[in-house]
Amino acid sequence: MARLNLALLMVWSIVTFQGHQVLAAAPLPIDGTPTVVEMTRHLDILEDPEAQYGREHILDPLFNARFEPLYRESANYGFSQSDWWVRFRVENDGDLPQKVTFKLDYPLLDIVDVWVFSGTREITSWETGNRRLFGSRPIKHRDFLFPLTLAVGETQTVYMRVRTQGPVNIGLTLFGEQTLLPQVETEYLVFGAYFGGFLLLALCVLLLYLMDRQIAFLWYLTYVLSYSSYMMAFNGLAFQYLWPNSPEFGQVSRPVLLTLSIFFLLQFSRSLLGIKRVSPFLHRSVTVLQVLLVGILLAVPFTAYGNLVQPISVLNLLALLHIISMGVVAHRKGEQAAKYYLLAWSIFLLGLMLYYLKVFGLVPHNFVTHYGFQIGSFIEFVFLSAALGVRVKQLRYQSHIDELTGLANRRYFDEELDEEFAISSRPQAELSLMIVDVDHFKRFNDEYGHAAGDKVLREIGKAFKAQIRRPGSAYRYGGEEFAVILPRTTADEAITLAERLRQHVMEEVPFDGVTISIGVVSRRDGRFLTASDLFVAGDEALYKAKAAGRNCVAVYIPGLTSKMENPNTDSVMA
Ligand code: GH3
Ligand code: MG
Ligand code: MG
Repeated sequence: MARLNLALLMVWSIVTFQGHQVLAAAPLPIDGTPTVVEMTRHLDILEDPEAQYGREHILDPLFNARFEPLYRESANYGFSQSDWWVRFRVENDGDLPQKVTFKLDYPLLDIVDVWVFSGTREITSWETGNRRLFGSRPIKHRDFLFPLTLAVGETQTVYMRVRTQGPVNIGLTLFGEQTLLPQVETEYLVFGAYFGGFLLLALCVLLLYLMDRQIAFLWYLTYVLSYSSYMMAFNGLAFQYLWPNSPEFGQVSRPVLLTLSIFFLLQFSRSLLGIKRVSPFLHRSVTVLQVLLVGILLAVPFTAYGNLVQPISVLNLLALLHIISMGVVAHRKGEQAAKYYLLAWSIFLLGLMLYYLKVFGLVPHNFVTHYGFQIGSFIEFVFLSAALGVRVKQLRYQSHIDELTGLANRRYFDEELDEEFAISSRPQAELSLMIVDVDHFKRFNDEYGHAAGDKVLREIGKAFKAQIRRPGSAYRYGGEEFAVILPRTTADEAITLAERLRQHVMEEVPFDGVTISIGVVSRRDGRFLTASDLFVAGDEALYKAKAAGRNCVAVYIPGLTSKMENPNTDSVMA
């Protein structure tokens, strides 16, 4: 009886394996030389739309006869509800037993079941996949890794069943014993750098936000955090390190993190590019998109991932259109940050395009196409940071500029005076200050109206720009009061400059009778204890000029008006 069974078994296996010989891809020979083999040419594929096959069919010749060699470059089938069976054989051609490991390089497959046969004997099997605990994997790695051990001359047949709600993407690579570890080490080093980069970026942006309180920094931070978390989930690293015992949470995390990052990206883009001002239409349209994204977020806990894929993809596409439109519109309106913003997205899109061409089997699978998405997104973040830098510089500039005259404003004056005062505390350092006030300006306003008064202020602004050169800088200090900081400028030089400015206003401002009075004060060898002492002294000099009849320059004389020592500076009256 046993002998009959054995004979039947032999006949059966000959039939089975002859079937393989006719239809199947050739077994992959292994002989102990270091190998990394792309398995596409060695795979047989079977689509099982009804999910009718299981372990019990593996030895069935009819089942085996249904497999067909994979004639294509890659086994990517897009979204598919079917079970996908993969079969391949490896054969030990060497003189020693061989250990090899095969790797599935797409970590987001829900169900991955593997059975390994030597002839008709099942050697081992694994039931794993993203829907099962991380511990169900034979090797604890973000990608699926399966080890095989082959005796000399042995041929093993591997059957693998894949079922997933996302895209079916079966990239298989076989590694020899010596080749797997270096590859894994390099990969984790690269990931460490990649996510370490994001962590540093997030910390920097957080610090910048705390220092500057610019809301664009906060939105950028939320985008960096949600996007890098999404990438961790996408790479299978989040499952490995963050929630290995919660595959259900893992399923929910990807749509949630993706939706959140799009939401925050839109918000960041809007504040970065000042879209509310640049295009109220786009501003509203982004709001609508964000409401829809919140709708998706609320639906995630109640909806299967498969049903969310389509709406999320549509919103993704709409978000992308908005991103490009915002960039282009802001660029047209002369927004400086838009240039870097558009550059960032062009590079990101290039990477994304390469990746999807690979997923759908249109370009070959290699390092650049496989990691294109991630490389692109990393470069994208570099340029987005540059865009943010430009924006912040611009905002800071705007917050320091007086709208009416185009001169720097009082806030900037206070900062700069403090800074220059500190610098001038060194021995031999010179610093002069002018305080300027328009004469009888109230009367002018009363006579010609406020609008004409504004025009005068604008003209006086022009006079400052014409007369004050580096290292000097002019500020509108308040209403009709101005100030000029003159680093490395002696009292004599400052007086000459003030006199020239006074004459320029008198001659060039196209309103008769508009004049200014100027108080000048100089600091040498560390005189004056604080910047505000210096300012008060300048104001005193101005008061003196007013008292002397206006339209003139007066210089502060320490001995006369205050307790400051060293009274040997001349007073100049025009
Ligand atoms: P004095 O020569 O003593 O400086 O006389 P004054 O009239 O210039 O002095 P006062 O400080 O009393 O008046 C300043 C006036 O400047 C009051 C206000 O109407 C006018 N003013 C201040 N800011 C502006 C502004 O932005 N636009 C216009 N048109 N007028 C302004
Ligand atoms: Mg005044
Ligand atoms: Mg005045």
